[in-house]
Amino acid sequence: MDSFEEFDLSPEVLRGVKSAGYVKPFPVQSKAIGPLMAGRDVIGQARAGSGKTAAFGIPLLHAVNPSDRRVQALVLAPTRELAVQISRELSRLGAFTGISVLAVYGGQSMNVQLDALRSGVNVVVGTPGRTIDHLMHRTLRLDSARFVVVDEADVMLDMGFVEDVEFILGSTPADRQLSLFSATMPKRIVDLSERYMKDPERIFVDRDEPSSQTLEQFYARAERPEKLDLLLRILKMDNRGSTVVFCRTRHGTARLAKELGRRFISVAQLHGDLTQNQRDHSMGLLRSSRVDVLVSTDVASRGIDVRQVGCVINYDVPEDPAVYLHRVGRTARAGDLGVAYTFVSRDEVADFARILSRAKTPIKPLTPADEIHLKLSLADDTGRDGASRRRSRNRWGGRWRRRR
Ligand code: AMP
Repeated sequence: MDSFEEFDLSPEVLRGVKSAGYVKPFPVQSKAIGPLMAGRDVIGQARAGSGKTAAFGIPLLHAVNPSDRRVQALVLAPTRELAVQISRELSRLGAFTGISVLAVYGGQSMNVQLDALRSGVNVVVGTPGRTIDHLMHRTLRLDSARFVVVDEADVMLDMGFVEDVEFILGSTPADRQLSLFSATMPKRIVDLSERYMKDPERIFVDRDEPSSQTLEQFYARAERPEKLDLLLRILKMDNRGSTVVFCRTRHGTARLAKELGRRFISVAQLHGDLTQNQRDHSMGLLRSSRVDVLVSTDVASRGIDVRQVGCVINYDVPEDPAVYLHRVGRTARAGDLGVAYTFVSRDEVADFARILSRAKTPIKPLTPADEIHLKLSLADDTGRDGASRRRSRNRWGGRWRRRR
């Protein structure tokens, strides 16, 4: 959706959206508002700052009837600050609807919240602990709460709030509409969604989703023994700032860094076998451009936010398309230009095909031969039965991974 007018919003909500200064929906809003307005459950992977408050807030305001003073919508947030921030945003977007929003959180007097609850509020934005306090005191009833949102679910999990959330969900009507947002999707959160949601719409938004205007993406078919030579050729050819090379394992990372060092390339490494000091040192070398190449595992790369990274190389193909996006998002930051290369060996073709099918921006073959080679491998892969595919992976030295 390119504009808020394309959603079937009431004039009051649309006015609130305009007066908040929103012109065009952010990606999470384009993806979530439609299904939520159609009454679907939604599980969304989106980070703080992606615009998810309005993504659930606009359909929430649409669903609430201001002349019914019962609590019709509940948003659970892990921290006071977030609860206050969400309630402010909902009040701003709903400024012309007559819908009343109340934040309930620990640290503020129960009485202040009690007075507001008694006078009747339409929407409660609460932290789990204080929401449970009110439920226990029967100062909050959720049997009319048909629109329920769990925000920052992974932070809820880290803070030990999942049981509280489950308790609260148990106090809402069975036919409520539930949405859950989380920056990451650990298994416990997926389990939670499976238990409480009915055929949810799944949406994925990564703030680092690449823009084809700033990031060029290429792939090359290369068997494992050929990858080092290809890397060296690209390093020679491409010199747009520093390069981050991603490997799947700590061992592979350390080995590749050593190989590059032996070839007089200035290189640092980043992985979980290093001490924190060593990792900080490697990051310092990259930031100050004292090394040209950083070889890293995925886990260690989480904090890499370095403007001068001009090139990312996926030396190994990640199994998860989300990891691909995270990796290539290390370059082309803040509107700078960047390039990403992915080296695909025979046993990585299936994983890479999944990345290609999810990609919203083109990932081009480095040479025409790479495209032909990939197509042949894919046809080969889909044309066999499981057993012969397994044999072929072994023949190519690949390890058999559980397919997801
Ligand atoms: P959030 O992730 O919900 O905390 O939103 C991050 C920031 O983006 C907040 O300051 C919002 O007011 C702002 N915002 C959200 N959606 C839009 C939009 N469509 N256009 C402009 N700003 C927005």
